[in-house]
Amino acid sequence: MDLAAPFDARTRLGLVLPMLVVVVVGIAVTAVTAGRSQDVRHQALQRFSQAEANNTARILSLRLQQDGHAVERMGARLAVRNGAMPESEWRADAGAYLSDKPWLRALYVADETGVQWVEPEGGPAVAGLVGAPGGPGRSDMSQSGMLGRLHAGAVARFEDGSDGMMAYYPFADGTGRVRVLVALFDIAAMLRASRPARDEDFDVALTASPDGPRLAGSGRAVDPGTSYRASAPVATSYEVGWTLHSAPTVSFARRMHPRTGLGVWMSGIGLTLLGASLAFMAQLARRQAVRLADVDAVRRTSEQRYNLVVRGMAVGVWDWGIRDNTLGWSPNAMRMLGLPPDYKVADASFFFDRIHPDDQPAVREAVEAHFEMGEPYAPNFRMRHESGHFVWCHATGQVLLDETGEPVRMAGSIEDITEERAAEEARNRSERRLRAVTQSAVDAVLTTNAQGIIEEANPACERVFGYRPDELVGSNIRILTPTEHRRKHDYYIKHYIETGDSDIVGKVREVYGVHRDGHAIPIELAVTEYKAGDDRIFIATARDLSARKAGEAEREAFIARLEQTNAELERFSFAASHDLREPLRMIGNFSQMLLRKHAGQLDEDARKAVEICAGSAQRMQALLDDLISFSRASDDLGQIETFIPVDMIELARQNLAEDFESSGASLETVHLPAKLRTNPTRFSRVFQNLIANSIKYAKDGETPKIQISAAPYEQGWLFTLSDKGIGMRPEYCEQIFEPFKRLHPASKYSGTGMGLAICRKIVNNAGGRIWAESELGEGSRFYVYWPEAPQDPDAAGTAHTAGTDDSVSEGENA
Ligand code: ADP
Repeated sequence: MDLAAPFDARTRLGLVLPMLVVVVVGIAVTAVTAGRSQDVRHQALQRFSQAEANNTARILSLRLQQDGHAVERMGARLAVRNGAMPESEWRADAGAYLSDKPWLRALYVADETGVQWVEPEGGPAVAGLVGAPGGPGRSDMSQSGMLGRLHAGAVARFEDGSDGMMAYYPFADGTGRVRVLVALFDIAAMLRASRPARDEDFDVALTASPDGPRLAGSGRAVDPGTSYRASAPVATSYEVGWTLHSAPTVSFARRMHPRTGLGVWMSGIGLTLLGASLAFMAQLARRQAVRLADVDAVRRTSEQRYNLVVRGMAVGVWDWGIRDNTLGWSPNAMRMLGLPPDYKVADASFFFDRIHPDDQPAVREAVEAHFEMGEPYAPNFRMRHESGHFVWCHATGQVLLDETGEPVRMAGSIEDITEERAAEEARNRSERRLRAVTQSAVDAVLTTNAQGIIEEANPACERVFGYRPDELVGSNIRILTPTEHRRKHDYYIKHYIETGDSDIVGKVREVYGVHRDGHAIPIELAVTEYKAGDDRIFIATARDLSARKAGEAEREAFIARLEQTNAELERFSFAASHDLREPLRMIGNFSQMLLRKHAGQLDEDARKAVEICAGSAQRMQALLDDLISFSRASDDLGQIETFIPVDMIELARQNLAEDFESSGASLETVHLPAKLRTNPTRFSRVFQNLIANSIKYAKDGETPKIQISAAPYEQGWLFTLSDKGIGMRPEYCEQIFEPFKRLHPASKYSGTGMGLAICRKIVNNAGGRIWAESELGEGSRFYVYWPEAPQDPDAAGTAHTAGTDDSVSEGENA
């Protein structure tokens, strides 16, 4: 037997077997290790890709939400203005809004006649709609459920080849037409703004379903074949779902995934030593750990980026992980509730527990409606602040669904609207008060916008203008203005808005309005302006002056009739007195003649009778003269001049020279004005009468002492004439100014009783007043207020044309 053979064979087996075992075990271990290492890297890359997709999707949906709300607000403004917003105003609004959002390419308003207003003007032309034909059609938009909400629509392709998302905001304008505000989002720009400027690690893209992927992304297409591709839903609206896809770039994948497999196999096959294999495996394990650390670092960067965006937003941001009930609550949102920015939120119950009990059902309903029906989530509710009180919050949110349509997470914004709400409540309160006042007001109260469209009208409008309030609302205020003023009215408003100058706003004016039946109504119109933000509201109060005007007209007609009758009466008394003078003179003359020539033929009785006849004729003559003077005293004041009062009083004294001489009377004048503007002849005549009376009614045996003084009074001077005569009982002080009123028999004091009546008529006609104060036996004071006549700008100091016949001064005797 060949000993060597079994030895050799045994030895070889003993050597080879372990060797083989070592090699087989080495290869197996190497293979498993290499496979595991591949798996771990593979999973890490996929996880990271998913994280990148999730984070970018969250940022995008927040942005879309915020921009969407802003577009909604613009749409709501358009709708509220009944479509009456001027195009320029809309352009200014839209322009300001577009300026800081590079991803919003254009806004435009369209109706069935086509596109009307585009901003920026001549903005990016849309080459066509390339996807998601499930976007809402025009007839869909007219459905009331669609109106007043923003809907994501088709993918638009711009002429420059880039892709955009169209969003529609349908609204009904004042005329009942449905118009649509369209916003064009540039997807690439939006993605750029949501990601770091130099991100070479990932490709991202958005797709719109259901019409298959229409990639519009980071400039590099996401390789649909890559096994690292991850997606996350961004927004679902109407029938269009937008999904974000991300995949590592080739260079990043290579960096993360060096071609280690071949090396492992080469080494595994080449190395038969378990130690070497183990050493190699140890080496591999170390490298793998380094790679994983890399992955974590990059993921952290992604989270940080998300946090930075969140912190950069003015409002608070929240993020609810629905499956594990976690809640992210941003520093701004913490601050809103009085919590430190780093406060740790345990889970989502933090949010629900802090909601005011009364508001909790509404918030839960809003969440459910959003999950189940896709209703927009935008509730207002109260949340408990750390210090115990409640703050009013407005939240928005968007749920992210997984591939099966199950809610995965929901994120959104939250802001403190306590102040706005308080302001709104105060506004509502004052509006309610105002409404209560205007509802019961007697005057018509209307509010209009800057275009003159009536927004509110109170019930009194029907009484004043004949229109029911609901007929007026929506019409232009022009329907209440006379045709000839309509154009002017538009001009006034426009002019006022441009320059701030107005003859109407802030003033009360008497104008004419038009009643429903067409007749003109005199109204007192007061217009005030109220500014609410950019809106200008005009409040017009119209008081119906018809009754007042009718009363005024009646009074004027009455006065005119009275004046006419007076004038007739005066003409009559003048003519009568004048005509009576002639026969009277005859009676007087013939009585005198009888007495002179035929006295001898008359017996004593006859002579006395003729004497009485002659005396009566004389008295009658004086009465008629005074009557004529009285009837002429109301004639126009005649010549108005500026004269020196002392001179005119001196003239009166000269006219009364005989009386002065016979009585020895004295006249003193003090503080008289240097000049006075009125009719000098009548001024002199009044004082002549008064002075004559003071001499006549002096106490028996006493020398009359008269003083005339003056002081400034109202619009002229108050003259006071005082004497130390017999005076009279105070109750007579007013009666003595009546025609023919006398306190003594003619036998004691001569006179007709017309002197003071003539004085009062003259003074009243000059716009002044005359009155007396006296005590029996204590002397009298006569007051004459004489206003300065206004300067005649055309003919100062020259003759007035009317009534220059100054016959008053003729034939008069006090
Ligand atoms: P006449 O003097 O012609 O009677 P007047 O109209 O001038 O008429 O005066 C009316 C009356 O007023 C007089 O009759 C007289 O009784 C009273 N009277 C007027 N002036 C004075 C006076 N200065 N002192 C007292 N009584 C006067």
